[in-house]
This record gives sequence, structure tokens and C-alpha cells, in this order.
Amino acid sequence: MNDTNTTQTRLREMPSIDELLRSTTCTVLLDAYGRELVTAVMRDIVAELRAQILAARDSPMPEFGDVVGRAAEKLAAMMAPALKPVFNLTGTVLHTNLGRAPLPAEAIAAMTAVASSASNLEFDLGNGKRGDRDTLVESWICRLTGAEAATVVNNNAAAVLLLLNSLAMRKEVPVSRGELVEIGGAFRIPEVMARAGSKLVEVGTTNRTHARDFEAALSTRTALLMKVHTSNYVVEGFVASVSDQQLAGIAHQHGIAYVVDAGSGSLVDLSQFGLPREQTVAETLSAGADLVTFSGDKLLGGPQCGIIVGRRDLIRKIKKNPMKRALRVDKITLAALTAVLQLYADPTRLAERLPTLRLLTRSEDDIRSVAERLLDPVSKALQGDATVSVTDCRSQIGSGAMPVDLLPSAALALCIVGSRGKALERLAARFRALPVPVIGRIADGMLLLDLRCLENEAGFIEQLSFLSSAGEAP
Ligand SMILES: *Cc1c(COP(=O)(O)O)cnc(C)c1O
Repeated sequence: MNDTNTTQTRLREMPSIDELLRSTTCTVLLDAYGRELVTAVMRDIVAELRAQILAARDSPMPEFGDVVGRAAEKLAAMMAPALKPVFNLTGTVLHTNLGRAPLPAEAIAAMTAVASSASNLEFDLGNGKRGDRDTLVESWICRLTGAEAATVVNNNAAAVLLLLNSLAMRKEVPVSRGELVEIGGAFRIPEVMARAGSKLVEVGTTNRTHARDFEAALSTRTALLMKVHTSNYVVEGFVASVSDQQLAGIAHQHGIAYVVDAGSGSLVDLSQFGLPREQTVAETLSAGADLVTFSGDKLLGGPQCGIIVGRRDLIRKIKKNPMKRALRVDKITLAALTAVLQLYADPTRLAERLPTLRLLTRSEDDIRSVAERLLDPVSKALQGDATVSVTDCRSQIGSGAMPVDLLPSAALALCIVGSRGKALERLAARFRALPVPVIGRIADGMLLLDLRCLENEAGFIEQLSFLSSAGEAP
């Protein structure tokens, strides 16, 4: 039992903030973080201790311990970047929650160059007058897609929203019931339509939609016809959909536009790299689409952005919408996007220079040899906490690109003998607690580390020594 005297004595014994700040060990902290933040953190710790002393009735008095040491830890954690690199060993190459496409060195260099200085973002260096940020990248987009014009916004969701709001506000847009997609929770076609101020007219059925369904849906209020790429699912069996050519034909006969939300939007035929075939943006345009929207950070392998390509008059209308200003991209995105598009100029070297494509086309043998090289170091680091073996697995492209096409890959499979669920979760947490967090996936009672996306093997091995203590649950 602590009596009032003990409590008072203990409170008196507490080091003052001044004493703490004057201690020699604290000078390093003051140099690194400045007096204001260090003082605030010290105050927090001292207040915590005070509360603990006052609360210590039957329990032993708390030790003051190394207050400066605690402050150092707290400050280091506060000042570490909150957004940081991780090892994506989930087997999903374009993982939305892990930031999608890794960028090529060329894009990093371009971003760095414009980030630290003024640039000609909206300045025409030819005539010295105000310019348009889209022109910086438009010619490359047009060259690679065959489009007349292009504009770039924050992401593909923004592209669809802006397109509909610009061309179909208070008007009707027929879409097949088979294409009313939801992408990762927040992007759902019916809701985007509503927010854009357009009226969705559902056409056909879930599995079958015919040209006559669209024709029957046309009215004087119809603004345009729209097709949405069913990115993240497939409907199989008794199915029918209307082709781009047919939809474009119907739209043009009625003097309205035909637009396509292509989702991933591939710029090149991926079958030349041994990947599943996906209709390219250029092909969609040649099939008659007046506008196509797609993401910059999906199969394209660039920074987060949304690209709208197509007819010049429609792009002009879209760019006049005040919403464009709210959805536009910054100079860093434009720098990265241009650098990535320039890599497409030479398709023969694309698979080695563009990280997304390099990872997607990585051979199973190559991935397996990574797994074999890591088997020993990972086993050793785990010190018998789990058994480790090399196993075949399947990676997926991710971000709703070709959901049923899986790529043969190899993984380290970590098993905990005689234990289930919780222990495996704890093991996964230890990997996530590493300096560069390692994100795997739990499947079939194993923690799988799919090595398709591991390129920095040395960096991975180097931090394995932290595994023994990292994230260890009490
Ligand atoms: C991914 C996707 C979107 C959303 O694109 P973001 O770039 O993530 O905003 C919209 N439509 C389709 C069909 C998609 O596949």
C-alpha cells in the first residue's frame, strides 16, 4: 500500500523538464529535432509518469527509468516517414493498397528534376505566354493511342466522373446491366453516374445484352452510349454483349458519342510479351469509340492518374468544365507520366525497362531461383519458429486487370507445425514489423511470400536479422 507520503515523495523526485532538457544525453535530441518538439514530447512522458504515480495504489511505484531514452524512441518514431517502401510479396503485382505500379528510374529522375525547381508547367516557352499543362504529355498519349486529343486527371475514377459531368449532365446514359461494376469499394458505376449528375439507364440483363436493347433505350434525352470494362470479374456461360463497333454504330446513327471506360487501358498488345491479351486503347478507338478513359498506374505502369483520349471537340468540352481544375494532376505526375510514355517508344526494351511489365513477365524459373536462394537465410532467421519450403504458386496482375489470368510463380511457404490461425497471424505481423515491412499472404494454413516482385534480394536478406525480435507478441 502506498501512503500519501510515498506518493508525494515520488512526485517530488521526478526529474523536471528543465533538468531533462539540460542533460547531456538530450543535446543530441535537441540538435536533431529542435527545442519545441523535444520539450513537448518530454512533457508528455513526464505527465504519463505523474499519472502512473498517482494511480499506483497497491502496485509498486513506477520507475522513472530512462526518460530521455524514451523520448528519443518516441521522437524517432514521430519523425520517420509515415509513407514508406514495403516488399510486396502478396503475389498481386498491381496492388492498389500497396501503391500499384512501381516507377522506372527514368520517371524518378524526371520527377526529381521538376520537384525542386520552377518549371514550364503552364508556360509556353515558345511565345512566353500562358500554356496548358496537358500539352506537355498530350502528343505522347496521342502518338501511342492514335487519338486526336487527350487530357490527364487525378485517376480513372476522376476521368469517368469528369467525362460524364461534362457531356451527360441531366441526361441519360444507357449502360449494360452486365457492366455496372464496382471497383475496390468506392467506385461504383451507378454512384459515379449519380454524382456526375447523369441518369443511368440500365440496359439488357446481367448475362446478356443485345444491340436492340440499346436501341430501345435511346431517347431525346440520351447523351451518349457507354461501355465499362468488366475489369475485375467475368461472366461465363450463356452470355452476350454488344461489341464496340455495334455500339459506336448505334451511337453515331443517332448523332451521339460512344465512350468507353477501359479500366486498365493497355497501350501495347501484351501477348507479344507472353501475357494475356487485352484490347489496347488504340484498338478501342479504331473500333469507333469517341472517347476512352483509363488509369495511368495499372497496366500502363505509370503514376496515379486518369487519361481521357479521343475526339478533339469532346476533349475540348471536357477541359472547359470547371471540375477539370479540381481534378487536374500536378507537375510531378506529368513528369513521371511523360517519362513512362517515352519508354513505350521502344517496345522491344519495354519489358526490361518498365518495372510493371518486367515483374509481370518474370519467368517462373527466375522466381524459383530467388526462392531457392532465400530458403536458407529465411529458415535460419526464423530459428525454428516455422518450417520454410519453396512452393509453386500463382501471382495475379491486380487492380482489376485480367482477373482470371494467373501467372505461374514461386513462393516461400512458411508453416507453423501443430499451430493454426493466430500463430500464423503473429508470424505475418513479425514480417510486417521489419524496417522495410514484408507483406505476404496467408492461404491454406501457410504464410506465402510470393517472390515475383522481389528484385532487391540483398535488401531483403539484410534485414532478416531483425526478424527474431520484430513484432514479437507478448
Ligand atoms: C480501375 C478502374 C477504375 C478506377 O480507376 P482508378 O485509376 O483506380 O481511379 C474505373 N473503371 C474501371 C473499369 C477500372 O478497372
